Amino acid sequence: MVLVDGRAVAVVSTYFVSAALRLHSLAELTEFRCPRCDRHQECALLGSAGEELLCPGCFGQCGVDGKALARTEGL
Ligand SMILES: [Zn+2]
Repeated sequence: MVLVDGRAVAVVSTYFVSAALRLHSLAELTEFRCPRCDRHQECALLGSAGEELLCPGCFGQCGVDGKALARTEGL
C-alpha cells in the first residue's frame, strides 16, 4: 500500500468490512497524517474508505465497531 506522501508500507492483512470500507493491519508502526482529523499519528492499523486512508479513530466513525469487524474476520 502507498501512503498519500508516496511512502510504501507493508500490509500484513486486510479486512473487508464493507464494499467501500477496509481495515489494513500494517507490518510496522507507520507515521501517518489522517486527512479527516488532520492529525499526525503512529498507527499499526489504517482504515480506508474508498480511496481515502483514515486513522482508526476516523475509520470507526464510518460506522465500524468491534462487532462488525469480528463478523468480517469470521467469514
Ligand atoms: Zn483521523
